[in-house]
Amino acid sequence: MAKKIIKKRSWAEPFKIKMVELLKMTTPEHRQKAIAAAGYNTFLLKSEDVYIDLLTDSGTNAMSDRQWAGLMLGDEAYAGSKNYYHLETAVKKFYGYKYLVPTHQGRGAENILSKCLIKEGDIIPGNMYFTTTRLHQELAGGIFEDVIIDEAHDSSNLHPFKGNIDLNKVNALIKKYGATKIPYICVATTVNMAGGQPISLENLKALRKLTEKHGIKIILDMTRVAENAYFIQQREKGYANKSIASIVKEICSLTDGATMSAKKDALVNIGGFLAVNDKKVFEEARNMVVIYEGLHTYGGLAGRDLEAMAIGIEESLSDDHMAARVGQVIYLGEKLMEAGIPIVQPIGGHGIFIDAKKFLPHVKQAQFPAQALAAAIYTDSGVRTMERGVVSAGRKANGENYFPKLELVRLTIPRRVYTQAHMDVITESIEHVYQNRKKIKGLEMVYEPKYLRFFQARFKPI
Ligand SMILES: *Cc1c(COP(=O)(O)O)cnc(C)c1O
Repeated sequence: MAKKIIKKRSWAEPFKIKMVELLKMTTPEHRQKAIAAAGYNTFLLKSEDVYIDLLTDSGTNAMSDRQWAGLMLGDEAYAGSKNYYHLETAVKKFYGYKYLVPTHQGRGAENILSKCLIKEGDIIPGNMYFTTTRLHQELAGGIFEDVIIDEAHDSSNLHPFKGNIDLNKVNALIKKYGATKIPYICVATTVNMAGGQPISLENLKALRKLTEKHGIKIILDMTRVAENAYFIQQREKGYANKSIASIVKEICSLTDGATMSAKKDALVNIGGFLAVNDKKVFEEARNMVVIYEGLHTYGGLAGRDLEAMAIGIEESLSDDHMAARVGQVIYLGEKLMEAGIPIVQPIGGHGIFIDAKKFLPHVKQAQFPAQALAAAIYTDSGVRTMERGVVSAGRKANGENYFPKLELVRLTIPRRVYTQAHMDVITESIEHVYQNRKKIKGLEMVYEPKYLRFFQARFKPI
């Protein structure tokens, strides 16, 4: 009898392309000049000079025809827009939160939440810091404490849920400061700064038990909650046959509220919200949004943006969408690994993170290896990546640099935007840069803004 051959079947996008955006192709000489003019900071490049843009997955999504049609249904009334009510219904139905405060993007929600919940001297534990999240906590008088498991700081550790929280670290903080000093724990899904690593439901349930005992809230940074749900479906026992939508709902049900940057998972170009279950917190947040964002039924957005967000939330929870979304990221990651490029493993949900310390062992961390590598990749091929290392980490209150263990270059994949051929071109470029890596020199920072310096800092080669 012939042996049955089981062949792996390919995934492919559950959509076809209806409109295209033409790109300019550039020469190496042009790119050399462009990156020097940008102070070796890929954030300061003109988008026109970029071929494949992997700077971020934030607001770079391709919207569907349904979302574009939704824009035409924008109800631009100052108050009580029907798109607001559509969004409120979507947030209740798909995430289960009771109260919604729309904001212009994620950091708008973080600002309001931090101001509502944090008092001077409070401790805010979180599974690794995120730039804007931590800054808003600090500006509100709080102190961020990292409680992610140690494995998350090791780029080659293969733990399937590197976004998990170390409950011993949480317990130690409760012991040291007292539960009353900890208004909430900030739990991020597919932890961005760890390389897009998920948290397990088992871990979240255990955290819920622990915090409930002490009256500490859990606030979800739900920016990439659907991508996290995909990993739970693929990796966590008991969830293989559950839908992404039901897993997302379960995650949210274990928390007291959430901040959302809809520019990521929710497939829009702008938007975000704060959602909570506590009526008192809601009332305070709804009052505060008027100061910082706009009336509570638009939160700094146009009615059409709210409509696109409501539709995008539903599309983001489709199992086929998520299999193709993360499938493309894994395709690129596996190709890079085959080429011997040191990347963070396991491959994360929204992008590939190159380990710049391993890629450029001859460049000291104080000379910004990830920043230098991002500039070199751009010069090679017009592929724009970004630094997630010592520049992004910024300085402590006492002025010293944070020196994070992870010194990474992030290749973030926009949703529904690029093809498999683009992924192949990216791989070839990085392979080429890797072969010539010894020629890459470190950088010196010549301009440093006070807040979130990675966006605007300027450098020159040493
Ligand atoms: C992008 C992001 C934010 C901030 O959201 P913005 O929409 O950029 O203001 C917060 N948390 C995480 C994990 C993010 O990725």
